[in-house]
Amino acid sequence: MKSINPYNQEVVFEHKEFTVKQVEEAIDKSQNAFTEWRKTSFEERAKLFLALADVLEKNKAKYAEVMTLEIGKPISQGIAEIEKCAWVCRYYAENAEKQLSANKVSTDAQESYVRYDPLGVLLAVMPWNFPFWQVFRFAVPSLSAGNTGLLKHASNVMESAKMIEQSFIEAGFPKNVFQSLIIKSDKVEKIIRNPIVKAVSLTGSNAAGAAVAKVASEEIKPSLLELGGNNALVVFEDCDLEATLNTCVHARFQNTGQSCISGKRLFVHKNIADEFTEKITQKIVALKSGDPLDEETYIGTMVSKEAAETLNEQLQDAIEKGAEVVIGGNYNQAYFEPTLVKNVTPDMKIYKEETFGPLLACSTFENEDEVLEMVNSSDYGLGVSLFTTNKKRVENLIPLFEDGAVFVNDLVKSDPRLPFGGTKISGYGRELSEEGIKAFVNKKTVYIK
Ligand code: NAP
Repeated sequence: MKSINPYNQEVVFEHKEFTVKQVEEAIDKSQNAFTEWRKTSFEERAKLFLALADVLEKNKAKYAEVMTLEIGKPISQGIAEIEKCAWVCRYYAENAEKQLSANKVSTDAQESYVRYDPLGVLLAVMPWNFPFWQVFRFAVPSLSAGNTGLLKHASNVMESAKMIEQSFIEAGFPKNVFQSLIIKSDKVEKIIRNPIVKAVSLTGSNAAGAAVAKVASEEIKPSLLELGGNNALVVFEDCDLEATLNTCVHARFQNTGQSCISGKRLFVHKNIADEFTEKITQKIVALKSGDPLDEETYIGTMVSKEAAETLNEQLQDAIEKGAEVVIGGNYNQAYFEPTLVKNVTPDMKIYKEETFGPLLACSTFENEDEVLEMVNSSDYGLGVSLFTTNKKRVENLIPLFEDGAVFVNDLVKSDPRLPFGGTKISGYGRELSEEGIKAFVNKKTVYIK
């Protein structure tokens, strides 16, 4: 299995795929590890997660470089990603015990309560776009709850997968509590069907989510899906203009636009549309593209030239239907210029579909009802950002959005303290916070007469 550096098309890492037998052995080892791991105290686990946070901090430059080589991620953003992984380790080290403490309920029994026990071996199928963060977001709460984890990472980031496994070993975790399986996606079905594996979590595209959820449902196993998004950035005329401009640029262009929660559709009130478009164009022009290994680079390459071609097809569809490219629009191999498109209408692919790259699609609106309809008309439901200084408006609108998250005057982001997840075709289930640690536990009712 090869990782190709999208910046220069060179093969940077090669890994031999596991055989079916090796996969089965890994599953058995995970089960053996579970029988001991489940007995460890929260205190012991917390110590290990604190050690893991230190390992991540210590190796952040090395890990970030691996991500840059595998997916063209700007290195400074890679370092920030590793620091966020350390944060989630420290968050659950501090909170897991409290969040999973038994919940007493008064009944006619002498004693009755709900306790939260681990399920066992979990499978995580993960995407390449945040090679470390997506995995830690799953692994830290799941393992803190006493489960063990098997990772099937995206085929193009297997060096990251190996580094993650090593970071657990370096932190002192017992053997096989967390393992990376070096496999392609055709081996996933058999793993889900293995009776040892108790549940599956997938972050990725809708097609992969549907395939994995189908198998899991046939096996009557729980699944959690974090899928694509088409988030809206809604800019009202009473917003704080400068702050809104900066946030919208960051919301769309960080990680070179390859994030599920990027603000992909920009809706600007018609009274400020011209001024907003002109000012955001200047900010987009100022974004520094270049070698992703350079710390000053903000826009790296996309993950592959095929990904850039897909984005270009979506853009050409919009141009044919009457959209106007304000800035950008060209690509070369895996590099795609940061692009702003205006006069975007609902029949265009860049409005209806997820665009997974540095392209912002701008439309205008006249009033709250209209923009609410525009946002909710999406098949996706990950998140929406509102930019306004009108508190009353915010209070009225928040309950009416169908998304899994509403952020006001900020971009939609994941935070260990808050639940993260979508509605509609963006998936189901929640990661992070107390919700995330309870995603893969047996909520066991105990009744003692
Ligand atoms: P992807 O192609 O769906 O891959 C995700 C993972 O699923 C990979 O490990 C992939 O393995 C595996 N996979 C693909 N098809 C499969 C199948 N039929 N059965 C089992 N496993 C399968 O997605 P991606 O291109 O890596 O990631 C981009 C997508 O992820 C975007 O749509 C993005 O919005 C979404 N995403 C969502 C979130 C969220 O939190 N909601 C976060 C990040 C990304 P191979 O690589 O071997 O094919």
